[in-house]
Amino acid sequence: MNGAAPALRIDNLVKRYGDFTAVDDISFVVPEGQFFGLLGPNGAGKTTTINAIVGLAKITAGSISLFGHDVVRDWRAARPLVGLAPQEYNFDRYLNIRDVLIFQAGYYGLRGPAVAKRADLLLERFDLASKAKLVYTKLSGGMKRRLTLARALIHEPRLVILDEPTAGVDVELRLELWSMLRELNVNGTTIILTTHYLEEAEELCDRIGIIDDGLLIAEGTEQELIGTHGGLDHVRLTFAEGDLDLLAAACRDLDGVREVHEVDGDLELFTAHGPAVLSSVVAVAGRHAAALTGFEVRSPDLEDVFLSLTGKELRD
Ligand code: ATP
Repeated sequence: MNGAAPALRIDNLVKRYGDFTAVDDISFVVPEGQFFGLLGPNGAGKTTTINAIVGLAKITAGSISLFGHDVVRDWRAARPLVGLAPQEYNFDRYLNIRDVLIFQAGYYGLRGPAVAKRADLLLERFDLASKAKLVYTKLSGGMKRRLTLARALIHEPRLVILDEPTAGVDVELRLELWSMLRELNVNGTTIILTTHYLEEAEELCDRIGIIDDGLLIAEGTEQELIGTHGGLDHVRLTFAEGDLDLLAAACRDLDGVREVHEVDGDLELFTAHGPAVLSSVVAVAGRHAAALTGFEVRSPDLEDVFLSLTGKELRD
């Protein structure tokens, strides 16, 4: 019955804390197998949305289902389908890390030798086997991150949610975590992550939802978002000779060019597809006895999308 159901379906989710609305009527769908990113600044409502999905926050209005199972009405079926790697470390500080994994499995009713075997397998896979008998406070930052991921996977969930998995980690560890997540996704696990790192969403995610002030303000592939909300290419032109005012006027008349400004002795031109104007600009230069010595195109990225939708920078 639930074979064709998406991994996650959120309909009109609202979460209020007293008078404060943290999540304001959000809807989106994540098909099975997708790598989905929720991108937004601090306080946007990402963690609240996740907490509602995994049953840690009580939903004020709307509904959420995992693989066709409503997370409230049908929580017994829904809960084992998802694993959460939270932002903060919340491991039991008195258990060794192998027992952390085994204990976690108990929440899902999983016990016995099969669980111990799975814990050992995960410790091996995340390069933690030599630390199995240590408590988590004895691990390095990178090891703690890997343990968070291992714990989220102990009950073999079909969907894994990671709340800012690389917040505050160094570049090397970030790349290592990215490759682990990619491998997990390639092997069939649906992944949702929250981030306020643009590059992380660009690098990993098939689709991205942009969330700000509790609202999902846009959703799509990176290219769709840029195409719809990113705005125009910026083309910077440097001329060796020629009258800049005349060149600017001529460039303004070119097909597809929307705006032309003089900036520090160069021309800045806004157009839908920057590279396409090169030959026309060369012709303009030729007609005005000028030589084009510099041509630089900057295409819009997710940061521009975010800025144009919210009027603010992604990172504070
Ligand atoms: P960050 O990137 O900083 O983790 P976020 O997008 O995950 O941010 P949330 O943690 O979901 O944001 O918080 C959204 C808003 O809800 C914030 O204004 C926060 O202060 C508020 N909020 C979260 N939890 C509670 C709570 N238990 N009681 C009251 N307000 C809360």
